Amino acid sequence: LAPWLTGRTVVSASLVDAVPGPKYAGLERAVGQRVREVTRRGKFLLLPLQREGRESGDELVIHLGMTGVLSHRAPGAHLRVRLGLDGSEPSALYFSDVRRFGRFMVVRSDRYDGLPTLRALGPDALSPAFTPELLRAALARSGAPVKAALLSQRPVAGVGNIYADEVLWRARVHPLRPARRLTRHETIALHGAIHEVLTAAVEAQGTTLYDYRTVAGEVGAYRERLSVYDHAGEPCPRCGTPIVKLVVAQRGTHACPSCQRPPRRRG
Ligand SMILES: [Zn+2]
Repeated sequence: LAPWLTGRTVVSASLVDAVPGPKYAGLERAVGQRVREVTRRGKFLLLPLQREGRESGDELVIHLGMTGVLSHRAPGAHLRVRLGLDGSEPSALYFSDVRRFGRFMVVRSDRYDGLPTLRALGPDALSPAFTPELLRAALARSGAPVKAALLSQRPVAGVGNIYADEVLWRARVHPLRPARRLTRHETIALHGAIHEVLTAAVEAQGTTLYDYRTVAGEVGAYRERLSVYDHAGEPCPRCGTPIVKLVVAQRGTHACPSCQRPPRRRG
């Protein structure tokens, strides 16, 4: 997606088989603007727009929801948005969405008033803005178990259920440990693990778009490298203790009871 979309100018924007509304807000503002780059924050794709070589302050925000698909080929059905592009092929970006949970809209950059989920998102896991200090500060503000804190996407965007189990295992932190009780050492280990796991996931997938879909719930080629997720009963790759499955934040969670010491029960 990024290579052929970056630098292209939008020449038309049309809603197709979709009711105008907040999910497609401001779409017409994209016309005449150039896509500066394709970036990602959690499950959102953010495309800052330029007019006559300068930042216009507008941003195209895309969220695939559960069933959204972006393509340079016209889909057979459920097409919602078509963006016409200048210059060479492909000459359009198509957004199809069977269940209509996705979003495809133009907003003012960093003014995500209508998008509370996006506004609450932490920095992207692979961006330079994501530092151990920032992670520590965000975890300190959380009243939840560390896995729930990660799933909230507030400390860092992009760690879904599967990757949360993997990074906590790498960092030797039990998923049920209260986020704000992690030591400095553990926070640094967790930060490092998040970076390593998501970097490997991106490498396993290849392009930004695949990575994006990965974050949206598919692990694809990275599945072979999983150490604990979906490995309940199998030996921990580090110490041999059988991996246990538990439920944290209503999600199936996998951990090594030996490497990841559970929090002490109170009372
Ligand atoms: Zn272990």
